[in-house]
Amino acid sequence: MLFWGQSCPYLEVFEMKIGWIGLGHMGSPMAKRILNAKFELFVYNRTQSKTEELASSGATVCTSPQEIAEKADVIVTMLTDNAAVEEVLRAENGILSGLSEGKTVIDMSTVSPDDSVRFAEWVKAKGGHFMDAPVSGSVQPAKEGNLVILVGGEKEQVDVCRPIFDVLGKTVIHFGENGKGSAAKLSINLLLGLIIQGASEALLLGEKLGLKKENIIEMISASACNTPIFQMKKNAFLNETFPAAFMLELMSKDLGLAKAEIEKNAMSLPLAGAVEETYRNAKANGAGKEDVAAVYRELKHLNF
Ligand code: NAP
Repeated sequence: MLFWGQSCPYLEVFEMKIGWIGLGHMGSPMAKRILNAKFELFVYNRTQSKTEELASSGATVCTSPQEIAEKADVIVTMLTDNAAVEEVLRAENGILSGLSEGKTVIDMSTVSPDDSVRFAEWVKAKGGHFMDAPVSGSVQPAKEGNLVILVGGEKEQVDVCRPIFDVLGKTVIHFGENGKGSAAKLSINLLLGLIIQGASEALLLGEKLGLKKENIIEMISASACNTPIFQMKKNAFLNETFPAAFMLELMSKDLGLAKAEIEKNAMSLPLAGAVEETYRNAKANGAGKEDVAAVYRELKHLNF
């Protein structure tokens, strides 16, 4: 048997036991890729039925985050928000109860930079390593291993865990110490929220002026304003059906986190305030479980 630090890198990777906590829209396809890459995988999800598919493919189901931390070398969390991560870390049967010296926790959830720093302190107090590694990309890129992974933590840990990141993402960017991965995620999701609202507003102005929506979509697609995200969402805009790839309530959460950072740093970013309000209202009006593109319908109701 090989142990950490021994020379053959490929065999070392296969010896890495991965624990995965959170099998939602993103966590499930990501964990599936880890299993398909032949890592030994331990899984836990609050709603246990979501573990069945992975269990039938060879993953070991654990009954608590504590058990995951006891059995795995690297523990990945992919959870809704900071409250969920805090609970999974600190509950009676949480990760911290099972964590021992030298193990690594990677939190891939979208939380605030300050939360990531707090989580890192708790993990380090138990002798572990911590990385915040949220992702840019939604369910399809997660299935394909095409996520962009935004990392805060020690460079050495990024290198050790590179084989895991390489299975999940096409690009890994190390932004610096703990909290910097989460900071990067707030920056990119502010832009994402703005692009989707911007496309919605351009469509609605054109429609109000009597243009056909198909023609406006064709125009944007052929112009310098085209973006990959517009191409992903154009059918949702056209048909006005919004099955969730990235739930609007999660975007609303992320924009709320961005807004808090903007206020904390006494910044003036007028579009950020406007976009946060739009998504918050859309969520309050019942679109939270739909895709982010449902912000189009929220704006349509204000204008037609
Ligand atoms: P999701 O489908 O809602 O899944 C959330 C997961 O968190 C579920 O496994 C849920 O367990 C678990 N959870 C929530 N609260 C918990 C608690 N208190 N204790 C234990 N488990 C808890 O969300 P998602 O779309 O996978 O997103 C996960 C994270 O990735 C979020 O931070 C999101 O902002 C971020 N993200 C999402 C996307 C996207 O396209 N969806 C893209 C990039 C980043 P149950 O199954 O029991 O509910």
